[in-house]
Amino acid sequence: MFDFIEAAREAGLPLPEFKPGQVWLVGAGPGDPGLLALLALHGLHHADVVFYDTLIDSRVLGLAAPEAELIDCGRPSCRNNDICDGMITQARRGRRVLRLKGGDPMMFGCGAEEALSLAAAGVPFRVVPGISSGLGGLAAAGIPLTCRGINESVTFATGHDKDGEASKGHDWTALARSSAVLVLFTAIRDLSEIVPLLLAGGRSADEPVAIVHRATTMEQRVTVTSLGECAAIAIEIEPPALVVIGEVVRLRRELAPQFYLPM
Ligand code: SAH
Repeated sequence: MFDFIEAAREAGLPLPEFKPGQVWLVGAGPGDPGLLALLALHGLHHADVVFYDTLIDSRVLGLAAPEAELIDCGRPSCRNNDICDGMITQARRGRRVLRLKGGDPMMFGCGAEEALSLAAAGVPFRVVPGISSGLGGLAAAGIPLTCRGINESVTFATGHDKDGEASKGHDWTALARSSAVLVLFTAIRDLSEIVPLLLAGGRSADEPVAIVHRATTMEQRVTVTSLGECAAIAIEIEPPALVVIGEVVRLRRELAPQFYLPM
């Protein structure tokens, strides 16, 4: 089999040593194992223990060494201190600890909080970025986040605050005016609360909305609707899903790729 890591080394790419006692906080990308970074692959190859989020593809976990310990951390929850305690304990035992998170580790999903815990404990760590579902995941689903003539900015927001409630931390009406394109993470269950606030902020009920479930996987489903209708439609859709609001959604008609369609 072609050895990617060896090929990278031969090409002179720097692959840092995964030192005992280190934690690597790694983004697994939106779902498709092919979107994993080379550094992530390298880290998986050398990790002694992998703490992974439930939705990580089993084929990605299969890239870990056969003797590596795999620990399922469930769905990401910022209230789960056990994960951080577990990582700190294992690192202090001199093991190479890899924390594998969906998308990019620092885009929502509590990666920053986990890194802060490691920093506070004095555990050396490295961040290996991944492709966020809200960026590459949408691109792969045929929704470009920017297009000249349509938008010059994008706003990313989470629908949930730190207590797991529909985010009261946002000024949703101000957010409505922030950019022509809004991307909402973890929001499908709260659209009935969020949409009226966006409409009050000046968004139009006719604006196109895409709800993208499990981008870049075989389960990917893209539902195109309008801002006025999306809350009712989202009831039928399971998380994880992204909500994209704005005219770029219409480009999908021409750009929808043929990949990731269910066989
Ligand atoms: N760090 C992750 C986001 C974690 S927050 C990233 O960069 O992608 C979890 C939310 O991300 C989910 O509720 C959902 O809104 C979104 N999400 C993650 N993976 C997804 C996928 N493959 N398809 C659609 N949405 C996804």
